[in-house]
Amino acid sequence: MNISFLDLARVNNRFRGEIDNRIRAILDKGWYLQGEQNDAFCAHFAEYCGTRYALGVANGLDALNLVIRAHGFGPGDEIIVPANTYIATILAISENGCTPVLVEPRLDTCNIDPDRIEAAITPRTRAIMVVHLYGQAVQMEQIWAIAEKHGLKVFEDAAQAHGARYKERRVGSLGDAAAFSFYPGKNLGCMGDGGAVTTSDRQFYEKLKALANYGSDRKYHHIYKGINSRLDEIQAAVLDVKLPHLDADNARRRDIATLYRDAITNPLITLPQTYDEDAAVWHVFTVRTERRDQFQRYLADQGIQTIIHYPTPPHKQLAYAEWNKYSYPITEKIHREIISLPISPVLTQEEAEYIIAVVNAWK
Ligand SMILES: *Cc1c(COP(=O)(O)O)cnc(C)c1O
Repeated sequence: MNISFLDLARVNNRFRGEIDNRIRAILDKGWYLQGEQNDAFCAHFAEYCGTRYALGVANGLDALNLVIRAHGFGPGDEIIVPANTYIATILAISENGCTPVLVEPRLDTCNIDPDRIEAAITPRTRAIMVVHLYGQAVQMEQIWAIAEKHGLKVFEDAAQAHGARYKERRVGSLGDAAAFSFYPGKNLGCMGDGGAVTTSDRQFYEKLKALANYGSDRKYHHIYKGINSRLDEIQAAVLDVKLPHLDADNARRRDIATLYRDAITNPLITLPQTYDEDAAVWHVFTVRTERRDQFQRYLADQGIQTIIHYPTPPHKQLAYAEWNKYSYPITEKIHREIISLPISPVLTQEEAEYIIAVVNAWK
């Protein structure tokens, strides 16, 4: 059997007819930016997340950037962020001239360890940026309490967790503002680049919207030195077609995750932990093993494609050479041992069972 990590053609072709119709309508109309598709999708996405507003932007990095920028944070301000996130979260903080303050994750869930946050707070700390990594919402109770005690904002990087819940609320609605990516491989993905910011704060939303549109609050009237970051009509249409299917897709991912967690019994493999079985959306299914590279080669030989999320932590990257001497042992252990097995709404039962059999046979 040959199983690709994520078959995007299979994912998107399920909606082929509807997507074709919407794109044809855009071509007929000749309106490509800031039109009815974007308005419709943003309204639907805000409603889905449980926020008052959603702003479509060009990608997830811009969404993160704009969240920080619209709060007015800059040089001298510190933002707390997990050390094991995808580098985009940290780049957005740097790009605003703020200082990223790295905090170790928990080994069991790979999400930021709330018990380590307070030690990282200084008089210059302005916000905690949580990352709902691998599709699992951060347990927010303790984060909210710390933020309130120290007067900090709470931002969410929700790029890997569309639809995930913490208790009864969805990610995107758990802090002051949240950033989403619609990169094709995400749980809700478009056919190019796309992103969104969600918030329920009207003033913040208005500023965000202006910043993303050349700093303009009305045409040819510029109140900020803004940027150009938009979700185009074709991407918005694709997302609007796919959004109503997101919960079913996430449920299918959850079923596969349950199957993996019940059936993978190889003692060399450590399975991922969840806080709430029903709430995680399994953007990726990561397992750990001390012989990771060997395991990956073995799976490849059996026709199973895997990906490492991620091979090198941000503080060991050349881009952050000033941090290379630092050590974050939990983060480094995760990066050394982690490997993601195929999981998607279109992975078949037969494929999942084959993966389980191959994983269990590894010695
Ligand atoms: C994908 C991702 C991003 C960046 O999104 P882009 O749309 O690629 O810019 C940011 N943070 C996390 C955690 C991601 O997984």
